[in-house]
Amino acid sequence: MTRPVIVAANWKMNGCLSLVDEMTASLAKVELSENTRVIICPSFPYLASFASKQIDCNLNANIALGSQNVSEHEKGAYTGEVSTEMLNEVGVKYVIVGHSERRSLYKETSSLVAHKVAKVLNAGMTPIFCIGESEQERETGQTNTVLASQIQPVIDEIGIENFSKIVVAYEPVWAIGTGKTASPELAQETHQFIRQFIADVDLEVAKKVSILYGGSVNAANCKELFAQQDIDGGLIGGASLKVDEFSHICSAV
Ligand code: PEP
Repeated sequence: MTRPVIVAANWKMNGCLSLVDEMTASLAKVELSENTRVIICPSFPYLASFASKQIDCNLNANIALGSQNVSEHEKGAYTGEVSTEMLNEVGVKYVIVGHSERRSLYKETSSLVAHKVAKVLNAGMTPIFCIGESEQERETGQTNTVLASQIQPVIDEIGIENFSKIVVAYEPVWAIGTGKTASPELAQETHQFIRQFIADVDLEVAKKVSILYGGSVNAANCKELFAQQDIDGGLIGGASLKVDEFSHICSAV
């Protein structure tokens, strides 16, 4: 089963209009292999600018726009929130859901995350569903239990038959923004557990679903990480703000 290699950029609360310009100009020159998909997730105010630059720069159809979050509500009195319909309207194709920063800083529970995953799918976009353990959870041997407790509510909410329509991003919390990347062996071992957990419910779905690694991925370590059997690309924070480095990652895979 050949799964695409997905390189997704999470700009977090960083970037500006000129970064949108520079990134789209650079991506327009990047040679992407046929099997590579690139997703750029800027902050809400830059989504529409990115979408219009995609057209101006005639970006490859394999480069898509993503959002970093979405509301679980349809519409109404939810000041500061953004709906799936709004994201759809500006050309968003992917939505990051359940990033560890949303889980820890904004107290998003696994059941809320599962609800958002379903909302995004029902709106015709692809959720990038994030999971990962803390340093303490890894050190005390709880990694697999934690990951299972994050995945199961999504399977229950959307049904296993829909699980291959989402992208999973495994991001050990201790590796996010710390420069402490999981070794390729450790990342592979955990990805294998995630795929096996899904395979125990449905083998065909497990073969199809894309599982990305996130946590201090950069131009120097991406190749070895993405070469692992169960790693289908990466969700990239810090290095995705550096135009040359990110373009290099996209063309290197
Ligand atoms: C992230 O924010 O999803 C992430 C992986 O960040 P970084 O690459 O900076 O560790």
